[in-house]
Amino acid sequence: MTHRSGRHFLQIPGPTNVPERILRAIDRATVDHRGPEMARLGREVLEGLKAVFRTNQPVIIFPASGTGAWEAALVNTLSPGDAVLMVETGHFAALWSRMAYRLGLAVELLPTDWRRGADPAAVEARLRQDLARRIKAVCVVHNETSTGVTSRIPAIRAAIDAAGHPALFMVDTVSSLASIDYRHDEWGVDVSVACSQKGLMLPPGLSFNCAGEKARRAAEAAKLPRAYWNWEEMVAANRSGFFPYTPATNLLYGLREALAMLQEEGLANVFARHARHAEATRRAVHAWSLEVLCALPEEASATLTAVMVPPGHDADHLREVILERYDLSLGIGLGKLAGRVFRIGHLGNFNDLMLMGTLCGVEMGLADAGVPHHKGGVDAAMDYLCGRSPAGIRAAA
Ligand SMILES: *Cc1c(COP(=O)(O)O)cnc(C)c1O
Repeated sequence: MTHRSGRHFLQIPGPTNVPERILRAIDRATVDHRGPEMARLGREVLEGLKAVFRTNQPVIIFPASGTGAWEAALVNTLSPGDAVLMVETGHFAALWSRMAYRLGLAVELLPTDWRRGADPAAVEARLRQDLARRIKAVCVVHNETSTGVTSRIPAIRAAIDAAGHPALFMVDTVSSLASIDYRHDEWGVDVSVACSQKGLMLPPGLSFNCAGEKARRAAEAAKLPRAYWNWEEMVAANRSGFFPYTPATNLLYGLREALAMLQEEGLANVFARHARHAEATRRAVHAWSLEVLCALPEEASATLTAVMVPPGHDADHLREVILERYDLSLGIGLGKLAGRVFRIGHLGNFNDLMLMGTLCGVEMGLADAGVPHHKGGVDAAMDYLCGRSPAGIRAAA
């Protein structure tokens, strides 16, 4: 079978569905990246991004996936052998720490059971022991995409402050930015890391660092080699709307459209929409008698839900059946969760009926694949959604 009729459901937690408006915005002749139109576009998107990060600090754009922005955050601010404290909340945190290790940093990992977020008390206790102030950065993933657990960033900031520790605070906000409340300035984050293909609804290819004043001061003394990722060259060229090397011009048109869409909906409404779809999804999972991987309700992610399959069943087989029969892609179990969980992405360009279609696909697939469950997850989600109009509609009424 080569042609599949109807629309494919891409419900992995990134890359996410790209809205028509953004596809149309990208679909145009490429412009001169040293010309006047680029200067206008560059200034517009660099300014617009600040509203999404909730910052007055510069946001830096790299033509790269999120992994590039991880590297940029580390190499701009740290020196060989510097100690970094990283909380291993899941697969993405583990990848970031592996990168830090490869770059020659002395990585200290605070483990978790991959079902909880970063523990502020554990961070505070470790920092209090560091009397010699060897730890130069604390790195946390805000929304751990492999587990569906959201860490409480303001509480981690408070823990660093309570310990009176001067380490930089770096946060991966890749799968939370523009979907879950995030405030770079107010929450005292020094470097935020993000990319284009999740809440920003763009194709992969852009990544971001938001760099606060303390981080940029650290960059002046930092000794790790950096060339492509150099912040200061970027910030200098960005003042006039340009970039030191060729930016991903067409994606920047898409970014301008994404920023306009977020502004039209209103960030508060965007966050409420994500929270509502996440709650409906969890009600479906509970009605199926399956278990959500996230252990604490207050840390459950608004952008994705990781669902455990019963012992003796293979989550990858379930995903294959669902893809084959219903043309619906779900997220795989990553790292040590391989085969044990599947992940439902409910972020980005998304609405009630897209969620219901997704949950129908999962419920039918559970039956097809012979995974023990109760029926009625779809009904539970409908009951929840029906009574509650989306925040956007309520605000307009
Ligand atoms: C997607 C993602 C990344 C970046 O991955 P890339 O494949 O390099 O774009 C980093 N951190 C988290 C939490 C993610 O979800």
